[in-house]
Amino acid sequence: MSSDIVRIGIFICNRYHTCAGGKCLRSLRNREGAFSIYKEGEVELVGYTTCDGCPGGNIEYAPAEMKKNGATVIHLATGMLVGYPPCPRIDYFRRYIDTAFGLPVIVGTHPIPEKYFTIHETLGTWNSAMWQELIAPTLATPEIRLAYN
Ligand code: SF4
Repeated sequence: MSSDIVRIGIFICNRYHTCAGGKCLRSLRNREGAFSIYKEGEVELVGYTTCDGCPGGNIEYAPAEMKKNGATVIHLATGMLVGYPPCPRIDYFRRYIDTAFGLPVIVGTHPIPEKYFTIHETLGTWNSAMWQELIAPTLATPEIRLAYN
């Protein structure tokens, strides 16, 4: 088992709990959105689950299972950024997972779909330094955002 492999655990927002993971898995395969940082390397998905609904009780437990299965990094899915409203707990989740499990956390998975981008831009949802930092890994380009609509 090579130590160079990036092993990824993904948490999705429970409001999308029936999601089959199509956009996340496609972007992982294509190294798009937040997965673009792994351009050169091999990746393996070792965990995929929901937060279990507000206020996100599964965040307290599931990272341990992911870590036991080899996770070296946790991604908080793009749905947490683009839902109406976005998850208000993202920043806490990432600090908690890092502190409690020693796992780095990347916010985002697939590129933000253009239809969400347009509405949130109009609403001013992300008009703060923190939200700008949170969405940065998944902003991509207008062309790529359209491809994920
Ligand atoms: S808004 Fe946040 S805490 Fe609530 S279900 Fe979605 S990810 Fe979980």
